[in-house]
Amino acid sequence: MRIALAGLLASALVASEGSFSPARSSELLEGLREVFGYSLSGFLLDGALTAIKIAVLALVAGTALGLLLAVMRLSSFAPVRGIAWFYIWFVRGTPIILQLVFLYDALPPLGIKLSSFTTAVIGFALNEAAFMAEIIRGGILSVDRKQSVAAAAFGMSHHQTLRRIILPQAMRSIVPAMANQAISLVKGTAIASVIFVNELTFRSQQIVGQNFKFFTVFAAAGIIYLVMTSAISVLQSYLERHFNMEREPGRPRGLARLRLWAAGPAAAPDPAAHSTPPAALKWAAAEVGGVPPRKPDGSDPFVVCRGVHKAYGSREVLRGIDLTVNRGEVVVVMGPSGSGKSTLLRLVNHLEHLDRGEITVEGKLVGYERWNGKLRPIRNLAKARADARIGMVFQHFGLFDHFTAVENIMEAPVQVHGVPPAVAREEAMRLLAQVGLTFHADHLPHRLSGGQQQRVAIARALAIKPDLMLFDEPTSALDPELVGEVLTAMRRLAEAGMTMMVVTHEVRFAREVADRIVFMDEGQIVEQGAPSEILDAPVHERTQRFLRMVDRIPA
Ligand code: ADP
Ligand code: MG
Repeated sequence: MRIALAGLLASALVASEGSFSPARSSELLEGLREVFGYSLSGFLLDGALTAIKIAVLALVAGTALGLLLAVMRLSSFAPVRGIAWFYIWFVRGTPIILQLVFLYDALPPLGIKLSSFTTAVIGFALNEAAFMAEIIRGGILSVDRKQSVAAAAFGMSHHQTLRRIILPQAMRSIVPAMANQAISLVKGTAIASVIFVNELTFRSQQIVGQNFKFFTVFAAAGIIYLVMTSAISVLQSYLERHFNMEREPGRPRGLARLRLWAAGPAAAPDPAAHSTPPAALKWAAAEVGGVPPRKPDGSDPFVVCRGVHKAYGSREVLRGIDLTVNRGEVVVVMGPSGSGKSTLLRLVNHLEHLDRGEITVEGKLVGYERWNGKLRPIRNLAKARADARIGMVFQHFGLFDHFTAVENIMEAPVQVHGVPPAVAREEAMRLLAQVGLTFHADHLPHRLSGGQQQRVAIARALAIKPDLMLFDEPTSALDPELVGEVLTAMRRLAEAGMTMMVVTHEVRFAREVADRIVFMDEGQIVEQGAPSEILDAPVHERTQRFLRMVDRIPA
């Protein structure tokens, strides 16, 4: 048979040099026919099926375990991280062939008797998990953390955030790496022959052992492997298209289309809204959900901070904050970078634990319970945040990159508050109209300008029907010409009676909209009062210095 192989090679060589001999080319044809025949032989295809079964089962189980390990690796609890790290270190560091043989030989004495097929599935799954864990962890880390913070602020749980926000985006980097794994795995199942799994390579060897047709049998096996791995490549490109965020506006694919369909007919785009000048933003006071008329006369405390302390490590960031914000009041917080303004806002929404003191919103602690005269965080923080209904707007927007504008706004109402998608969508379209973005409803954030993104973020925060809105430097990341449109939206909201805590350095906005300005420095409130008092006649030297700086007025 080696002669046949040599003959085949020779005829191929001759053919390539252009001089055909009928006898040789018929030999070549015969060879090809044989390869074709073996590729369709039930014996080899059965072996291929075994390989596919092992690969699919191991990949599914390995991915599930890998996801668990990836989440464990990202845990804030060191022992959990350690266990996952050790597993990955050990499994990646030893050859799969040894792992398979070990399982095959070690399990029976322990009284566990498994078929070689099952042993192979378990072995490959355990091995795959270690690699998938690192692939998934890489994918998770590639998603901007700001989005998780935003999701948490609206009361989404860790699990919801992972499933709805992080993983769909992580899939962009996970899919190609996972396809690599799947391909290696399909081919790697050949190793299972060491524990006598009757898969494709094993069966090819059996045939060759009998008829010595190395070339044709192995060529056939190669073709079968190619078909299997090509199927994975096709699946890969489908998945990549599915998770591609650059999809055409208004033409979502796959699951997203299904979701939109389930959510009911979209409101017709209103091209006129596109040209709506920012000044014409319509926050009709009557349209802001259930906000009572303004009463900022100090009679109705809404947010109360008492002796709030917070340190990161040894660095004291907040050093005894006492602050009351009344219902319907707009409080602007100013202060140099690092003075603790963002930390204060995050504590109000319990995005971080406080160390000492307490904060109540509408008389209630957000996510704490009293225990031995002290506060202790409750278990289900996500629910506490959801119940508190505090809207939050961030400096860097934190929009969910894989969702369109309208989907961004619908997310928390649907996922956290159980609003039916069709209702949430209608509400989201109404909010979008109020920020003058009806035309952009089906656009992904990356297609919007910074100012538009921030207006979507404001609409998103309003969608949970908040009684309190927190703004953390909402215009600091914007080009100067885009600042106005965002401030206008905020001004309308203030006029509609929303209780607002706004960290901003926009002096004009503060002067015109704020009821009170609070000036912070080094974790303390240095002074506070009406805008005219603080802006025109600051008492404290640090306030004066700061205002000179932001106003760019020469000393
Ligand atoms: P501001 O918003 O006024 O600029 P921040 O509240 O963001 O100030 O931060 C106050 C200080 O706390 C800064 O020095 C910052 O470096 C520190 N800080 C903020 N967040 C963290 C964190 N998660 N871990 C450690 N330090 C932090
Ligand atoms: Mg800040």
